[in-house]
Parts: sequence; C-alpha cells; structure tokens
Amino acid sequence: MSRIVDTVIVGGGMVGASVALRLAEAGMQVAVVEREPPPAIEDVAPCEVRVSALTHASEQWLEQLGVWKALLAQGAHPFRAMHVWADDVDGEVVFDAASVGEDNLGHVLPNRLIQAALWARMTDHANVTACFDSIEGFETEASGVHVVLEGGDVLHAQLLVGADGAFSRVRQLANIPLDAHEYGEAAIVGCVRTERPHQDACWQRYTAEGPVAFLAMQDNLSSLAWYLPQHKLDWVLSLDDEAFAEALTEASGGRLGRIDWVGERAGFPLVRRHAQRYHAERVVLVGDAAHTIHPQAGQGVNLGFLDAQVLCEEVLTAFEAKAPFWVPAVLSRYQRRRYMDNLAVQRAMDGFEWLFAHDLPWKRPLRQLVMLAGRLRPATQTLTRLALDARPGSY
Ligand SMILES: Cc1cc2nc3c(=O)[nH]c(=O)nc-3n(C[C@H](O)[C@H](O)[C@H](O)COP(=O)(O)OP(=O)(O)OC[C@H]3O[C@@H](n4cnc5c(N)ncnc54)[C@H](O)[C@@H]3O)c2cc1C
Repeated sequence: MSRIVDTVIVGGGMVGASVALRLAEAGMQVAVVEREPPPAIEDVAPCEVRVSALTHASEQWLEQLGVWKALLAQGAHPFRAMHVWADDVDGEVVFDAASVGEDNLGHVLPNRLIQAALWARMTDHANVTACFDSIEGFETEASGVHVVLEGGDVLHAQLLVGADGAFSRVRQLANIPLDAHEYGEAAIVGCVRTERPHQDACWQRYTAEGPVAFLAMQDNLSSLAWYLPQHKLDWVLSLDDEAFAEALTEASGGRLGRIDWVGERAGFPLVRRHAQRYHAERVVLVGDAAHTIHPQAGQGVNLGFLDAQVLCEEVLTAFEAKAPFWVPAVLSRYQRRRYMDNLAVQRAMDGFEWLFAHDLPWKRPLRQLVMLAGRLRPATQTLTRLALDARPGSY
C-alpha cells in the first residue's frame, strides 16, 4: 500500500494518539503507525500495572479531544491531597486541594485506558488511517517525507511526528542526539490494597533507598510506585505475593497499615533522557520520544500532553493559514515553547532526587529545613497552585 497524507505519527501511545486526534479534527489527513494494537476500553482492567496521575491541564486537553467524560465514567479516580514525608526528619508536607478552593489535585487512571479512549474516538474519524506496523526508515526530500514501514507499506507526508516513546526509532533515524543519565534506581509499579483507606489521597514516603508512593484508585486500591536501588530490582520482583506485601509494608512504614493484597507488578530502570533538539528536517518529537524524567512527581505524560498541545497549536496555525506547517520556523517555535519547560521539570526532579538521597549526613538538616518550609501554609498553597495551573511556559 502507498498512501498520501499530511502528517504521519509514529507511536499511538497516549501522546501520539492525542496529536493524531487533534490534527484530524482540524481537517488534516493523518496516518498513525502503532506497533501494538491498542485495547478496547472495556478490556482495560481497573487494576492495571501502568497508571498516570493527570493534572488539570492534561484533563482539559483530554476534554478538548472529547474523551474526558468517557474516562471519568470508566473510573478515573480523583486525588484530593498529597502527603509527603521522609523517614529521617520530622513532620510531613500536605498538598491539599481544598486549601486552594479546588475539589481535587487531579485524577489517577490506567495508561491503557487513556490510550483506548483516544483510539476509540480516533478510529471513528474519517481523516485517520491506522497502520499496525513499525517504522523501517524514512527519506526526506523537497516534496515531502516518505515513511517506509516494516510490512512494506509506504506513507508520503509533509511532516513526520515521532511519538514512539523513550527508545524512539524516529529519533534515532533522524540522528537527533540524546543526553541521558541513569539514576541507578528502578521503580516497581503495580496495584495494591492497603489495610487502611487511602482517603482519596496520594502518600509518598522518602526512605534511605528512595520514595515509596501510593496513588489513590477506586475500591480502596492504590497504584504503587516503589523506588529502590537497581541491583535490588530482580530480587524484589522475584518475591511471591506474601513476601512482596510484607517487604512493601516495611518499606512504606505501615502508614496505611499492612498491604492486604498485591496484583501484577513490573519494574523499570530509571533514566533521564532529553533529545538535544526536538526537530530535524520535516521530523518532530513529542512526549517520551523527546524526554523522560524521574517519575517521582508523576509528570511524564503531563509534560507529553503539554508538548502535544503546543505542537498542534503551532502546526495548525500554519495549516489553517494554508502555509507550510513542516518548516523549521514552525517546528522551532514548538521547541522554543517546550524545551526549557521540560528541562526545568527534569532539573527540579533531580533536585529532589539529590536532596533525599541519604548519601551525605549534612543533607539531613537541609531536608529538615525543606520539610519545615513546606509545612508553612502559604508555601504549600503556592506549590499546589503552581502544579494545578501548569501550562506551557509556566516553569
Ligand atoms: C514507573 C513510572 C511511573 C510513571 N508515572 C507517571 C505518572 O504518574 N504520571 C505521568 O504523567 N507520567 C508517569 N510516567 C511517565 C509516563 O508513563 C510516560 O511519560 C508516558 O507513557 C509517555 O507517553 P508517550 O505516548 O510519549 O510514550 P509511550 O507511552 O511509550 O507510547 C509510545 C507508543 O509508541 C509505540 N511504538 C514504539 N516504537 C514504535 C515503532 N518503532 N513503531 C510503531 N510504534 C512504536 C509503542 O507501542 C507505544 O504505544 C511514569 C513512568 C514510569 C517509568
């Protein structure tokens, strides 16, 4: 098959699917290349291994795309507070939605549910062609970009969007250099039930080995993010349910009581990545293809959705004016609006990572000071507002 479209998007994950839907709704012909066919909404279990805590800005983006109501109906769970404490210093910091006049700080929901809802709407769209395949290569020339798929199909377009995640093949094929840093840490994620109710809150304890976090989900389930030194990952993942629950109860300090039940779990080594630029000739990167961050504040896909919004704004401004939307002037405007924001959030996460690492004894008083400052009501209110109002250019 050979097909001519305006834009090819490689990667139909949460970020790529959102770009595809927005461009298609604005009248562009779009082809989405996705390696793994997405699930149907009804096939997504409430207790999935990978979940995201979405900010209000991400929710508004999904609302604009017409999928937020479906996600709410499928069990997106609001979290109304976030409790953060460290086991070697006194007190805790509480970010509370009510303190800034809001009902919640965001919602927690499975990644596959977000992807499924976007695909359900996208595949109905006459402007979208879905190709369940993988990219083999591409060539750019004056007339456009020609994308060859592993199955032999060829897509001709004006613009190629790489939304194919952290190991982006598009980024590699476009020879865009990557800065990367391995934290030497891993995260175990999965679904658990705690003895005490989560009270619609997220709970994060900093330990000498890294944070342990519980994100509130429906039916008093919590999504777990347990950070630990990478060399311990295989051992902890090899524990049976009972031993895993016991080890987790200990790591969490028992704040929510015992861990009563544990579901499927998976582990990921943590790596910060940042593409040195977000575009090359007729190619542009979004989401994890452009950057990955330490997930301790759950910002990865939220940043990806901000990329998606800004890229669509810049590309559609040109498209609607019947001007070339694939030229460096358009793509570098997108990069200018997103690069420093993403870098600032990466740096902030590294700052927390550094502060809470128990490697040097003199950091402890510093941690104590930060926790004390964080307990001042105006400080938590300001930080809560900052997180809630995150928009492109806010950092
Ligand atoms: C432990 C952990 C916890 C996290 N928690 C949060 C959180 O609470 N909140 C948050 O905002 N973020 C969180 N994140 C980050 C978040 O999961 C990612 O930022 C997000 O998944 C990125 O979405 P994406 O669409 O850019 O990429 P992906 O989700 O990786 O999607 C990429 C898509 O491209 C497809 N693909 C890949 N290669 C090809 C190819 N060659 N051809 C065709 N298709 C291809 C894949 O199948 C996939 O569907 C967390 C990350 C980790 C590791």
